[in-house]
Amino acid sequence: MRSISVLGATGSVGASTLDLIRRERDKWRVVALTANCSAVELARLAREFDAQVAGVGDEACLPELRDALAGSGIEAAGGAQALVDAAARGADMTVAAIVGCAGLAPTMAAIEQGGTIALANKEALVSAGEVMTAAVARHGATLLPVDSEHNAIFQCLHGEDLADVRWITLTASGGPFRDCGRAEIEAATPAQAVAHPNWDMGAKISVDSATMMNKGLEFIEAYHLFPVGLDRLRIIVHPQSIVHSMVEYRDGSTLAQLGPSDMRVPIASALAWPRRMDTPCAPLDLAAIGTLTFRAPDEVLFPATRVARECAQAGGAAPAVLNAANEVAVAAFLAGKIGFTHIVAQCEEVLARGIPPAPASLEDVISADAEARRQAEGLLLRA
Ligand code: NDP
Repeated sequence: MRSISVLGATGSVGASTLDLIRRERDKWRVVALTANCSAVELARLAREFDAQVAGVGDEACLPELRDALAGSGIEAAGGAQALVDAAARGADMTVAAIVGCAGLAPTMAAIEQGGTIALANKEALVSAGEVMTAAVARHGATLLPVDSEHNAIFQCLHGEDLADVRWITLTASGGPFRDCGRAEIEAATPAQAVAHPNWDMGAKISVDSATMMNKGLEFIEAYHLFPVGLDRLRIIVHPQSIVHSMVEYRDGSTLAQLGPSDMRVPIASALAWPRRMDTPCAPLDLAAIGTLTFRAPDEVLFPATRVARECAQAGGAAPAVLNAANEVAVAAFLAGKIGFTHIVAQCEEVLARGIPPAPASLEDVISADAEARRQAEGLLLRA
């Protein structure tokens, strides 16, 4: 039996993870489950999985969580520090599935315990970069990518030498506006942006997919996970989302990982690693799918990947600033305060205002993130 904590248990990745755990209930002991404020749902899950502790990030939601857990014997905790403490209890496996940089401190706390981290929370790695990868090495932790593209690359690199890699190619669905012209993109509404053609995901990553910022963040994530150098990373649009990414080797061989557009596949790969486990996902029916297509990204209509690449090249705190500015802009777009194309434009404006010195610690990353948020909020007030 292995112990597991799921940070962001009430979200889309959290639900997919718990669906897999539910099917192998006798193999897992649940330590901590966390949410932000979905207290009733979190309590329901904590009872079902007999968690030791349930934590909400928003302290105002703690009374509701306490009420919902009354009589269960499960500890209730609230506030940002409570999530860090919950993650610091340590577990053989921690699934990091909080959305945004809010997941950084709990993920770092889990890393410090030296267990295995199944990382979905890309914003944490994008923001912390070398600070996180150094902590992984220092504490002997294992970082397994859950993002479908990175999980695919991880599988394609198994047993290989990074020195033999010619290209790592991240595939991108292109999002809901991949076939739209400029006028349609400029008029895009939140409802249209979250309606992803292939994946069922939380609102923030769905908007990121629509702007292609998701692929930009993934480019930076790949740079940290697979250190082959920026000039050997590239992006290709693959609307069917069947090939989840590819690695081309110097002999001309390309290895790709294929699968259904269901996050339970990469999550299962991380949960069972280095072995395999059953999932309820339908087998891949390539004859029914028929055609797999690929095309180059359009960085004029979708500039986010260019902006992210420039941040990766700049290094230091630039990715943290980009991520924070994007989080603020996406929230503003979802709240109807700014237009769709303003999301990436606002990120560029925040980046142009200056980048703090390269972070050397978690505190430095959090402070760069906070300052970029202040700048981005200031732009919103002016808009
Ligand atoms: P969701 O929005 O569905 O869920 C987010 C989870 O994080 C919820 O449990 C939410 O709690 C919690 N949360 C939100 N804000 C905070 C906060 N401030 N403090 C603590 N907890 C918080 O997101 P997804 O599951 O879609 O995505 C999670 C992460 O995984 C993201 O980083 C995303 O980029 C990545 N990812 C997601 C994929 C997907 O298919 N969904 C695919 C690949 C990567 P509450 O319910 O209370 O709001």
